[in-house]
Amino acid sequence: MVGKTVIETSGAVRGKVRDIMFDLSGGVTFLVQGADGKDSQIPLSNVTGISEHVVVKGETATEQGVPSYGTTCKFCGAAKPAEERWCPSCGRSQT
Ligand SMILES: [Zn+2]
Repeated sequence: MVGKTVIETSGAVRGKVRDIMFDLSGGVTFLVQGADGKDSQIPLSNVTGISEHVVVKGETATEQGVPSYGTTCKFCGAAKPAEERWCPSCGRSQT
């Protein structure tokens, strides 16, 4: 498992599995080293499949410290998915 490439469901490469951590409550977390050399932690609950590669969901909650739903519109404050470029509430571009 260590050394496998980690890709997101979107196809983006996250990095390589550097280590796998087990906590006392039975949780499993993948320690992934990104292309920039920084480690990120991906809980097993974010892993959607393991075959030739480890496939994970896009934005991880641990990385941003916010619920996986994403972010809020910078104009109207409505909650919106992080990957959504347009606010579903007011329709303004977030870029
Ligand atoms: Zn908005």
